Amino acid sequence: MKKIPVGILGATGMVGQQYIALLKDHPWFCLSFVAASAGSAGKNYRDAIAGRVRFPDILNTTGELMVADARDVSGAKDCAFVFSALEMDKDETCSLEDSYAATGIPVVSNASAHRWTPDVPVIIAEVNHHHIQIIPAQQKARGWEKGFIVVKPNCSVQSYTTPLYALQVAGYEIRRLIVSTLQAVSGAGYPGVASLDIIDNIIPYIGGEEEKSEEEPLKILGTIEGGHIKNAAFPKISAHCNRVPVSDGHTACVSVEFGKKKPSIKEVKKIWTEFKGLPQKLKLPSAPQQPIVIMEENDRPQPKKDRNTDKAMAVCVGRIRPCNVFDLRFAGLSHNTIRGAAGGGILNAELLYKQGYL
Ligand code: NAP
Repeated sequence: MKKIPVGILGATGMVGQQYIALLKDHPWFCLSFVAASAGSAGKNYRDAIAGRVRFPDILNTTGELMVADARDVSGAKDCAFVFSALEMDKDETCSLEDSYAATGIPVVSNASAHRWTPDVPVIIAEVNHHHIQIIPAQQKARGWEKGFIVVKPNCSVQSYTTPLYALQVAGYEIRRLIVSTLQAVSGAGYPGVASLDIIDNIIPYIGGEEEKSEEEPLKILGTIEGGHIKNAAFPKISAHCNRVPVSDGHTACVSVEFGKKKPSIKEVKKIWTEFKGLPQKLKLPSAPQQPIVIMEENDRPQPKKDRNTDKAMAVCVGRIRPCNVFDLRFAGLSHNTIRGAAGGGILNAELLYKQGYL
């Protein structure tokens, strides 16, 4: 098969570098265009990321590629679509992503800017793959012929939303949950949190993160109505987001309250073990074989030991036990720059390609 040429906006950042590492041997997509800010534009990729190289191997394939200015949309004219890993002002990100879509280049984004645009789907491929059906309405509303925008959620959301969705489709209504996240430093991009602030420390605040953790699952669990995505009314979520001295891997400690019908712990484990989504059925190249992996040891999952489970694309779940206040407690873990960012974006692109949107 002739590989499909793709580009990366924000290619020099933490997530951009992860995209390049994951695309290196991708069976369908090949990297043909890298873009970043005006400060990196015009340099070769090696020089543009000097002093902040996260994966030295990517320089072997990409080191000599010229970095374009992301504001110059014409540079991506030969790309079938672009991944967006831009970190800039919300309005600027929206208008830049829109300008690519307007010229016929679909955008598969990691940025949060468009997550609250009502006709832009926020996709976890195992959960709400059907939300991509809103794309024709999005294109019609904006007069875009070929381009469109699809985004993925915040980097910790799949750690608890995927397990909760599996319980919901098995017939258990989720009414309320309290989630405490323990988020890795790589989630803050590069250079991120100063080492003197995070070594030997926990910071109980990440700007904007609690709102995202509480609201994004409701859009993901929502329904398409009249060309918009209508948020689900439940669950009501209370989030505590903490930055912790872990390099990669976001953990979520969750307490869940069900509706009238409550599953036993044995049943919860059975549902999670048997859960498969559309990416597994379609055998998408980046899909984990088992989207939810249960760990029975009392002290798992742990970021250091478990974040790379199944290509770093699985959600690892452990400490599954009754809750004294609500009904069920568990800890979920997923790799924030892979499953929560570049890997999740690539999986969304594979889904879009297989479903005929790209
Ligand atoms: P990062 O390391 O700070 O990288 C930011 C990228 O955006 C760089 O390539 C940078 O280019 C580019 N950029 C900044 N200002 C720009 C401008 N005015 N015009 C064009 N390009 C510009 O950030 P990151 O952690 O990779 O995150 C990227 C995006 O993914 C963010 O929206 C973030 O919220 C989201 N995300 C991150 C994670 C994670 O775990 N890190 C997870 C999920 C989603 P220069 O190098 O030229 O400045």
